[in-house]
Amino acid sequence: KLVIQMEVKELEQLIGKNFHYYQTGQVADYIPALAEVDPKQLGMAIYDLDTKQLIEGGDADVRFAIESMSKVPVLLLAIKDNGIEKVFQTINTEPTGFAFNSIMNMEINHRKHPMNPFVNAGAIATTSLIAGKDADEKFERILSFMKEICDDPNITLNEEIYHSESRTGDINRSLAYYMKGNQMIEGDVPEILDAYFRQCSLNVTATGIAKLAAVLANKGIAPWNGKQIITEESATIVKSIMTTAGLYDESGEFSVHVGVPAKSGVGGGLMAAVPNRYGIGVFSPALDPFGNSAAGIQLLKDVVKELDADIFE
Ligand code: GLN
Repeated sequence: KLVIQMEVKELEQLIGKNFHYYQTGQVADYIPALAEVDPKQLGMAIYDLDTKQLIEGGDADVRFAIESMSKVPVLLLAIKDNGIEKVFQTINTEPTGFAFNSIMNMEINHRKHPMNPFVNAGAIATTSLIAGKDADEKFERILSFMKEICDDPNITLNEEIYHSESRTGDINRSLAYYMKGNQMIEGDVPEILDAYFRQCSLNVTATGIAKLAAVLANKGIAPWNGKQIITEESATIVKSIMTTAGLYDESGEFSVHVGVPAKSGVGGGLMAAVPNRYGIGVFSPALDPFGNSAAGIQLLKDVVKELDADIFE
């Protein structure tokens, strides 16, 4: 493939072109603190593995809740803690065909395990595998791993979102107790959920997410200091699951129209890892009906086209 570099000016133009798509979506309101977020925001950061440069545009430096994008680094940490085999004995790798917080997919499909790590049930099971005696210890380990893999020492817990998530998180509680009751997970459910609610409430930027994605795209090596943060094998597996289940029930359509491994969050974030080429972070809080960033997907589609980065081409 040709090396194509995008100029900041060009990125700003594409942000301007796609900004209006926020009107087609809505901010998440099932978590009350997310309903307060201004939908009129769009930003992107691209880490170019060829030049080792960051290209940032629009609201790339705005802090927002990582939400389900946390499912990626926490899965990577669970693999570090337990090994690939144990993690995928606990959690399957199939798309669910149901919404991200569905409980019935496990029953209908007669599953003995949550179906994949990128829906809530699977992510709660992933958090149960993180080493640490209680929620505090698990969370501290998640936070320091996040800071390292995003190369962002300023990631903090958004207390308001955390309390909002915890107060209204009864569907997540039902998922966790369902799994515990069916011997799908081990450990203390309230501690696991507390760590899960906190991991979802981390304040990140599109720039930090681009760097995380760059590690995934770069065989697990942080391009800014050459450190192998995760194994190449785990980077490959995670990108595969992102391709089949990263955008929930919209993953198929996203693969057809955009064509890069990606993961979304209801805070409006999107991360995309283009193998050996780019790590991309996007932020725009208004969501489409599947819970994915409406303007974010449109912008990513244009950028991937411009960079000739569709992995299926
Ligand atoms: N914290 C959110 C939840 O558990 C994450 C969901 C998401 O981003 N899709 O409901």
